[in-house]
Amino acid sequence: MKVLVFATNNAHKAREIESILGAGFQIKTLRDIGCLEDIEETEPTLEGNALLKARYVKEKYGYDCFSEDTGLEVAALDGAPGVHTARYAGPDRDPDDNIRLLLANLEGKSDRSARFRTIIALAVGDQEILMEGICPGTIASEKRGTGGFGYDPVFMPEGYDLTFAELGDDVKNTISHRARATAKLLEAIRSGAL
Ligand code: IMP
Repeated sequence: MKVLVFATNNAHKAREIESILGAGFQIKTLRDIGCLEDIEETEPTLEGNALLKARYVKEKYGYDCFSEDTGLEVAALDGAPGVHTARYAGPDRDPDDNIRLLLANLEGKSDRSARFRTIIALAVGDQEILMEGICPGTIASEKRGTGGFGYDPVFMPEGYDLTFAELGDDVKNTISHRARATAKLLEAIRSGAL
């Protein structure tokens, strides 16, 4: 059984990816390997932060590792909140405050196009591989729906008149940025990166 560390403390995300990868892989979280510190995301890009987390685990703990970083990029806001997506409205990472600020900043703007972008960084042996998953869409004028998390109530993926929060997990998980980046991770692993 190949052990791969997912540099996260979200056990739900870890089990989800373990089931996508299938038999032959055991996913461990940061807690599973005794890494209890909060790895600070100090880089100015999603790519930089994803690599920083994967490298940290590889160098300090010796495990092959992958990590992910996600941002919401809004065209009319020059790509903001981008790398600051989680803390857009402040250090509390409050999703309601983040959405309120986003809607206020888009008031009066006709271009509401946006995209979610996930970067997965894989650090295996002495190799580092970056994978990207993009989900294009638009920002709704108000919150709609109860599913999902984060900005889901205001993000409408391309081809749908419903937000991620209205579409639910089954649809979201087939078209989302994270699903697309994870598919590339699977491809990289199957094609012999591990
Ligand atoms: P992280 O990279 O998972 O830490 O995500 C950064 C921030 O992006 C989170 O705090 C969420 O607010 C937002 N986010 C990430 N993925 C999603 C998603 O699938 N839907 C809505 N918001 C998301």
